[in-house]
Amino acid sequence: MPSEFELIARHFTHRTPHSLLGVGDDAALIRPARGHALAVAADMLVGGRHFFMDADPGSVGHKALAVNLSDMAAMGATPRWATLGIALPKADERWVAAMARGFMACARQYGVDLVGGDTTRGPLNLCVQIIGEVPARRALRRDGARPGDEIWVSGTLGDAALAVSARRGGIRLKPAERKAAQRRLDWPQPRVALGLALRGIARSAIDVSDGLVADLGHICERSKVAAAVELERLPCSALLRRHRGHPVALAALLGGGNDYELCFTAAPRRHADVVRAAAVAETRVTCIGRVLRTTEGAYRTVVVDCTGLPVPPTRTGFDHFQP
Ligand code: ADP
Ligand code: MG
Repeated sequence: MPSEFELIARHFTHRTPHSLLGVGDDAALIRPARGHALAVAADMLVGGRHFFMDADPGSVGHKALAVNLSDMAAMGATPRWATLGIALPKADERWVAAMARGFMACARQYGVDLVGGDTTRGPLNLCVQIIGEVPARRALRRDGARPGDEIWVSGTLGDAALAVSARRGGIRLKPAERKAAQRRLDWPQPRVALGLALRGIARSAIDVSDGLVADLGHICERSKVAAAVELERLPCSALLRRHRGHPVALAALLGGGNDYELCFTAAPRRHADVVRAAAVAETRVTCIGRVLRTTEGAYRTVVVDCTGLPVPPTRTGFDHFQP
């Protein structure tokens, strides 16, 4: 069985062109560009909780980094550096090698240096810390939404949650449908280019990791506003549309996690700028509703039908400490 140091040398030591010093010392050395703030976030993937234990290890490595890149996208930050802490039940080198390949392919695609980490024995767990750069005053934050803003979302929602439901027997999908949904769950594509293109245009942003209603609710709380989104306008794949009548599909659309799309708000006069930014980023965006003025205690998302009537609430978000 390989030693901890062999694993590090073989699988986690790579070129770090954006860094002064990478893997191999007690700490890495990095230097942000002049006039930039550092954007720092961490996200953990726990085996059996955030991914199925039999998941393709390449997808686990990809996803561990991709979900962190999604946080950079939501801040309008350029991702630059990452650390990777891993706990492994045993030094299964084939698993580690495949996981590291998935991680590094994603890192190269987005220009991220793996500059350090920690490798230890324990229940399967990957903890990535990501560091990016953003001109401090141009960061996209959750607290900038204003009444009247248009609400937008990138890509389509709900497919990843559909894959989880199918796996748990909550909905029956054809094998090809299952595969497509599983792909969205296992290989999220963070919207980094869109986040960068929206600097100076969007007034607030968040990435949809726990479900649209819940995550947009976080913008509402931080910005002290309410959000009204129109059910009919929510972008979904052909797959989800085929199952639209199923309660599981509706819950996936509104409250399913793992989409890693961006939800953001912008002034209506910036509508054309948003459309242009999305074209530059080659990312589909859809205007789904409006930010509303409201009173304390009502800083939340309401889902309405095309006549403006509220849609009955469904399960609308994921919380690790709720049933
Ligand atoms: P220390 O004992 O000083 O914490 P370690 O022996 O844990 O150092 O790690 C040696 C070097 O390898 C350090 O530079 C550390 O950042 C790096 N490292 C350890 N595990 C990983 C990993 N999974 N991915 C990337 N770098 C790692
Ligand atoms: Mg260490």
